[in-house]
Parts: sequence; structure tokens; C-alpha cells
Amino acid sequence: MRTVLLGAPGAGKGTQAEDIKQHYGCAHISTGDMLRENLKAGTELGNKAKSYMDSGALVPDDVIIGMIEERFALPDCVNGFLLDGFPRTVLQADALDMLLNKMNCPLDVVILFDIDDEVVVSRLTNRRTCSKCGKITNLLYYHGENCADCGGILLQRDDDREQVIRNRLAVYNEQTAPLIEWYDKKGILRRLDGTRDRKDIFNDIKAMFT
Ligand code: AMP
Repeated sequence: MRTVLLGAPGAGKGTQAEDIKQHYGCAHISTGDMLRENLKAGTELGNKAKSYMDSGALVPDDVIIGMIEERFALPDCVNGFLLDGFPRTVLQADALDMLLNKMNCPLDVVILFDIDDEVVVSRLTNRRTCSKCGKITNLLYYHGENCADCGGILLQRDDDREQVIRNRLAVYNEQTAPLIEWYDKKGILRRLDGTRDRKDIFNDIKAMFT
């Protein structure tokens, strides 16, 4: 499968990506994760992206497109891929089309996670990542102070503070939401209710591919 997961930050794309990857064995490509890895490793790309990420702004298109081009060259993409957090602008979507045309493998489907902005704010301000194993926990559903799996310290992402979240939502509504119509016109957009249970959403996704 070659799929784009589209939706506001915190809409549940990453969570579903884990389940889809496990079930279908395709590569999970999250541009946010790739940027955070670069930041952690102190690469030139990471340093370039830092100020944009800290404020919730988008990293420039050319940086992201170059990163994706390199990622597609890795062998795990042969079994298909899930794009999570990319594309985020019409320019990125255009570049993606061109890349996939060159590789002769167009997108199958773009899945839109519909969710209200205030639900996103509540979800993301409560999101924590384990400093040891990386597991994502949400304090809306888990009330411990340490990771339930390994006991590691739960940390909040810098860009999950409310003010930054509101900025990320504004950026999404302005620069990414136009992609909904863009993909709808191409006839490959499918909509999901992003507030439903993880299992129910995954069942809806499986039904799209049967
Ligand atoms: P995410 O984890 O997908 O919410 O991404 C975290 C941050 O990384 C975003 O707020 C942007 O600053 C940056 N980012 C991730 N993906 C992209 C993209 N496709 N285009 C531009 N910036 C991105």
C-alpha cells in the first residue's frame, strides 16, 4: 500500500501508523520523527529545522522534499509506505506526485483524520514520551508518573505546550488543510472520525483495503 495519513497534529496518525505498519509490513515514514532524530543527533539538517519546530512553523519545503527523496531510496519502501506528516503543503504534494510518477507507483489512498481543534489541544497537552523506551503515553488515560512499560521518566515534547500547539493548528488550517480538496478532486481521499477508539479506527482502515 502507498498511503498518506492526513490530519491535524494530534489527530491520531502516528498511533494508526504503528498498527498499519505491523499489519501490512510497509514502511512508516514520519517526517516529524525524522526531523527529531536529526535534532537529537545534532546534524546540519536538525540544526536548520530546530527554530521552525520550536515555534510550530513548517520547516522549508526544499529541506523536507530532499529528506523524503533520500528516504524513498531505502529498501523497505519496496513493500509500500505510509506517509505520516507529509505532505503538509501543496508544493510538497506536487513534489510527491512527481517523485511517485518517476518511480511509477502512484498513491493508493489518502486517509483524512477528522478532528476538532479543541480535542487536539486537550490530547496534545496531555501527551508524554518515555525518556527511556520512547513509548507514547497520554495522561488523559494514564495517571502514573513513570512509563507503564519500563518505568522511564515521562517527558513532554517542547512543541506540545499549548501556545505552540495553537500555532501548529493555525499552520495546519492555513497550509495543510487545502490538501483535503486537492486529494478529494483526485478521487483518492477517504475520511475517518479521528475521535473514535484506536481499534475502531483501525477496523475502518482495514475495510478501505479489502
Ligand atoms: P509532527 O511530529 O509531524 O507534528 O512534526 C513536528 C514538527 O516538524 C512540525 O511542527 C514541523 O515544524 C516539522 N515538520 C514535520 N513534518 C513536516 C513537513 N512535512 N513539512 C514541514 N515541516 C514539517
